[in-house]
Amino acid sequence: MASDDECYDYDYDYDEAEEEEEEGVGIGDDDDLLEEDTPAPDRPADCWAITRECLSAAQQQELSVVTSLLNIKQHNARALLIHHRWKVDCIYDHLDRKGRDQMLREAGIILREDNNSRAAPSITATCIVCFDEFSLSDVSMECGHCFCNECWTEYFYASLDTGKKQIRCMGEKCWAICDEAMVQHLLGRKYPEAAQRFERFLLESYLENNETVKWCPSVPHCGHAICVGAGERYCEVECPCGVSLCFNCGEQPHSPCPCAMWKLWEVKCNGESENVNWILANTKNCPKCFKPIEKNGGCNLVTCECGQHLCWLCGGATGFKHTYTSIEGHSCNRFVGEEKKKVDNAKRQLHRYTHYYDHFKIHGDSFKAEQEKLGPAIEERVKQLESDHGRLLFRDADWLTDAHRSLLRSRQVLPRSYVFAYCMFDGKGRRRRTCP
Ligand SMILES: [Zn+2]
Ligand SMILES: [Zn+2]
Ligand SMILES: [Zn+2]
Ligand SMILES: [Zn+2]
Ligand SMILES: [Zn+2]
Ligand SMILES: [Zn+2]
Ligand SMILES: [Zn+2]
Repeated sequence: MASDDECYDYDYDYDEAEEEEEEGVGIGDDDDLLEEDTPAPDRPADCWAITRECLSAAQQQELSVVTSLLNIKQHNARALLIHHRWKVDCIYDHLDRKGRDQMLREAGIILREDNNSRAAPSITATCIVCFDEFSLSDVSMECGHCFCNECWTEYFYASLDTGKKQIRCMGEKCWAICDEAMVQHLLGRKYPEAAQRFERFLLESYLENNETVKWCPSVPHCGHAICVGAGERYCEVECPCGVSLCFNCGEQPHSPCPCAMWKLWEVKCNGESENVNWILANTKNCPKCFKPIEKNGGCNLVTCECGQHLCWLCGGATGFKHTYTSIEGHSCNRFVGEEKKKVDNAKRQLHRYTHYYDHFKIHGDSFKAEQEKLGPAIEERVKQLESDHGRLLFRDADWLTDAHRSLLRSRQVLPRSYVFAYCMFDGKGRRRRTCP
């Protein structure tokens, strides 16, 4: 028990000092400390994960702010928010500077001028799409365009299939956005599945056009979206399901490389460009059958599988009669310098790439090993520590897990630092002006 007490004292002092520094209040109650065993959030960025339901609620809240602020319907509020990338502040700002009507016009939102122009419900008209008679109590949009419900329904259904998130009026050259409630209502009567899809689309529009929310990229999807605070768009975030990503580009985390650099690196690794360089440096194409030929030492005359002889220095077709230094009837000495320089340069570039790629790969493998082998070993050790000593030592075990997490994080940054170095410097220690 003696060691447990020591440990407890240490914890106590540590926490008290920290608390006093932050808030000027010490902790008097010992029980508080015992309860406080959740590790402090160690994410540098201001980010949090939310579920689909909360996302819906968050979206609804922003919509109602705008509908009541401007006295417009929900579909118009949504169009306005999408136009301003879901930044309510931005809408306030435009409202101040331009006024309500101009702001709405600029966002392509058309409001019905006069609500009294609606015809009495008993009168019928001819739908100009299908030429059937329809009651004027059928749906008409805010822009004043009327069609029969049957035609609207088919139109909405077809629009959804094109993947459009905002359905515009069927009227010729009319850009008014259709009332969501009407779309939902009409689709629901004939195509309930499409009505659900439309609802999903509306929720997704919140994410696609919003710079501060993103779906977790996990497959199968874990059901979370990740939000970041203002100004945190370039951070790396981790979903509770364990998947982490660069919030800006949605790829796996890639610090210290900026998004664009990482993309180039991936293209380079997946592409054939380095192979092409290798082939350039080590092979020639036969002037007759165009197959690549490798040279394994010897004189400068090489012979292709097809029987064609060629000069290795310039790649030109030659006869077979030759000595170690010359080929009969062939002279290419004046090209040697140029050709050799080109080959040397390709070799140098390839060498540089393989150097950085090797280190990138080796450190990446170390990360995997420490995740797959050390991880379970540490879990095992933590369990053992906890069962050996009981609750008071719980934090010791926590530190072990934290240390492993930090190690893994650093292990991930290390390989990527080679990518950064490869892209940023030209091989002589000078900074590059552009990425390769
Ligand atoms: Zn019709
Ligand atoms: Zn219209
Ligand atoms: Zn997730
Ligand atoms: Zn990125
Ligand atoms: Zn050949
Ligand atoms: Zn020879
Ligand atoms: Zn030659």
